[in-house]
Amino acid sequence: MVGVELKPAQEQSTCAVSPNTPVWDDGSWGGLPTLDGDASADVCVVGLGGSGLTCVGELLRRGVRVIGIDAGEVAGGAAGRNGGFLLAGTYDFYHDAVARHGHHRARHIYRLTMDEVQRIAAETPDAVRLTGSLRIAESDEEAEDCRHHLAALMADDLPAGWYEGPEGRGVLLPTDGAFNPLLRCRILARRAVDAGARLYEHTSALDIRPGEVRTPAGTIRCRRVIVAVDGRLETIFPELEGRIRTARLQMLATAPTDEVRLPRPVYARWGYEYWQQLPDGRIALGGFRDAGGESQWTHDAEPCEPVQQRLERFLRDGLGVRAPVTHRWAASVSFTDTGLPLLEEVRPGVLALGGYSGTGNVIGALCGRAAAELAVDGASELAEVFASAPRPVPA
Ligand SMILES: Cc1cc2nc3c(=O)[nH]c(=O)nc-3n(C[C@H](O)[C@H](O)[C@H](O)COP(=O)(O)OP(=O)(O)OC[C@H]3O[C@@H](n4cnc5c(N)ncnc54)[C@H](O)[C@@H]3O)c2cc1C
Repeated sequence: MVGVELKPAQEQSTCAVSPNTPVWDDGSWGGLPTLDGDASADVCVVGLGGSGLTCVGELLRRGVRVIGIDAGEVAGGAAGRNGGFLLAGTYDFYHDAVARHGHHRARHIYRLTMDEVQRIAAETPDAVRLTGSLRIAESDEEAEDCRHHLAALMADDLPAGWYEGPEGRGVLLPTDGAFNPLLRCRILARRAVDAGARLYEHTSALDIRPGEVRTPAGTIRCRRVIVAVDGRLETIFPELEGRIRTARLQMLATAPTDEVRLPRPVYARWGYEYWQQLPDGRIALGGFRDAGGESQWTHDAEPCEPVQQRLERFLRDGLGVRAPVTHRWAASVSFTDTGLPLLEEVRPGVLALGGYSGTGNVIGALCGRAAAELAVDGASELAEVFASAPRPVPA
């Protein structure tokens, strides 16, 4: 797929570019069946991305009969199309999280996410590299903010250091990691099927009500429904309109190159840009959502200009990489304005989780486990940590 080309901006009324395939996809997925008829289970999980699959795994661990469905393929949304960063904390940098949520909660969440990175690495070691990550300052003002960021982490005994090196200057977060997000989800899905979960692809939830999920070819009856969908969650639950807003994030990747050597993932310009070098030398780069302005608040999930142009310019001029672009892709994520994810019972017996504000790999997995606890136990300490902590699901 070398030399994938975008249409010129003036032709891009639909912003479409084919085939919108992430660099993570090696084409080896064998697929799962489609649901064909009615079915029943204790819990139905809607959405088989990283959050939903973590939830499925936790439900299986607790001996629950589970059915999982996805409108497309396993991790066909953001979960298999992201930057592959495993970062501790929430959307906010740590000092901002402390200001927003207070020391106790910010530190508790940070520690939970650090532990979750370790858990993810232990669970799927073939997909994960524990490399640490770098937050790099693009200006003196941002360098000053990096110093506040570092000071806040150190004040709370969280591992971090000052970094100056070829990538620039900023904060080194030694416990973060990088992974192939699609590979991880595929491993989790296969493992869940082997453990007895009934997972179906190309099976949309058309209607979600207490105790049942209607799909095109049958109805799933269940005691609980867990909807683990990040981008476009508000289209499934219109009652969340105003609390969740969907945006498109975009990336590109290059052919393998040795023009640079980046041992760890890097994010810069207040987190807007992010890139990492894969073990085979490819560069995966995302960002410039703000360059697209209001047009990036969309349910469309196709890569388009001007964001792709800005990414390529940054690849060439900012990173000094000439290697050809081989992949361009996009996906939807949802944002909240609380700095915390949404995890709550939206309808009786129906839990929704999402709204990770662009950083859902780790916190989404945590929310997936919390949702499983809520569905089984009716309460979850993990869920209580988040500001949008749900009311317990009635037993
Ligand atoms: C370009 C990009 C880069 C990113 N980089 C990072 C990063 O480096 N680190 C990080 O932590 N986060 C990153 N994120 C955010 C992260 O990818 C997401 O927050 C996370 O993957 C969300 O996973 P999920 O499983 O909760 O939801 P999703 O990935 O949104 O999965 C939901 C699934 O539900 C399915 N679905 C939707 N509607 C229905 C329905 N009605 N019926 C059945 N199934 C349905 C979809 O097909 C999809 O497979 C990035 C996101 C993007 C787009």
